[in-house]
Amino acid sequence: MLLSCVRGLHPTSLSRAGDTVGGQGDRRPRGLPRLADVTTSTSPSVRKRVLLAAPRGYCAGVDRAVIAVEKALDHYGAPIYVRKEIVHNKYVVETLASRGAIFVDETDEVPEGARVVFSAHGVSPAVHAAAEARSLQTIDATCPLVTKVHKEAVRFASDDFDILLIGHTGHEEVEGTQGEAPEHIQVVNSPDDVDDVVVRDPDKVVWISQTTLSVDETMETVRRLRERFPTLQDPPSDDICYATQNRQVAVKKLAPECDVVITVGSANSSNSVRLVEVALDAGARSSYRVDRAAEIDPAWLVGATTVGVTSGASVPEILVRDVLDMLAEHGFGEVEEVRTATEDLMFSLPRELASDLKRMGVNVSTPRRGTRRDLSIQPL
Ligand code: SF4
Repeated sequence: MLLSCVRGLHPTSLSRAGDTVGGQGDRRPRGLPRLADVTTSTSPSVRKRVLLAAPRGYCAGVDRAVIAVEKALDHYGAPIYVRKEIVHNKYVVETLASRGAIFVDETDEVPEGARVVFSAHGVSPAVHAAAEARSLQTIDATCPLVTKVHKEAVRFASDDFDILLIGHTGHEEVEGTQGEAPEHIQVVNSPDDVDDVVVRDPDKVVWISQTTLSVDETMETVRRLRERFPTLQDPPSDDICYATQNRQVAVKKLAPECDVVITVGSANSSNSVRLVEVALDAGARSSYRVDRAAEIDPAWLVGATTVGVTSGASVPEILVRDVLDMLAEHGFGEVEEVRTATEDLMFSLPRELASDLKRMGVNVSTPRRGTRRDLSIQPL
């Protein structure tokens, strides 16, 4: 018996385990059929499948930051203090904490002279100064692609530009970048903020951005800014990083075929939350974020035939595997990978750590991504 499941899929009335932007109506381009319009949800003969985005999960900056804390624990011993979450993933933070990492909000919570790791999101010069004042031994795990944006900010500030930092107020990365030149930088959260921007000289304005934004929304913000400031300068190269862009491209490709897209990632992970939104905008009929498989509500799968799965740049692959196992238990055992790019970027360990390890005679090469991400974080 064929049953239409169009209505059954809309999750507006379903409980939420994570953020969802599903159930807001069909944004699919005209002419494209919905899978669920023409297939059944309940017949056992219906082909149920998972489209698995690639690239997904750990990026080079996250890999490096997590390995830095692990190596610090291994070679200096616990406790190792970490300012803020080393990366925005609950599971990673809990796992490192179970090994002896102590996560603090500010450097004044770290005992004088102790060792502290700065997170992948970067810190302002004021934080470096505060750490120095307490004689802390710092390991700076700021992603090199965030450092690149800091350097842009410093350069444009020294040329006396007004710098419009597109990003989310309160996000650690934005606080760190803004702290490089607070008198020159103002944060623009979204296209809706553009009308409120006030600059000293409309002909001397540049935009830069947080690394983990939606590419499409950022370009819309830039378009509106340029309407107001026609000579607005672009940053010298993309600030939205390769990992953020690649994960968005992959989820865009699979979303139009999906009844449900599940993004694995934490609520405070900017790039994970963006994936939830991008999936819906690209045509997924519903889109959810979960920290782990146990948060998936089986009701989301009722009537679905194709489920998309992706994960944010701070998510270890083991959490995705758990999601795939859970989906297989619900009949979605067939998994097709949808790959739109191959990534092989790796960053060397933070300088301070690498030179200490070299002195100790430890091999400082970072293992290849894809194997390391599976091995470094094991289930609690
Ligand atoms: S998401 Fe991009 S900027 Fe952030 S840590 Fe990963 S590679 Fe670096």
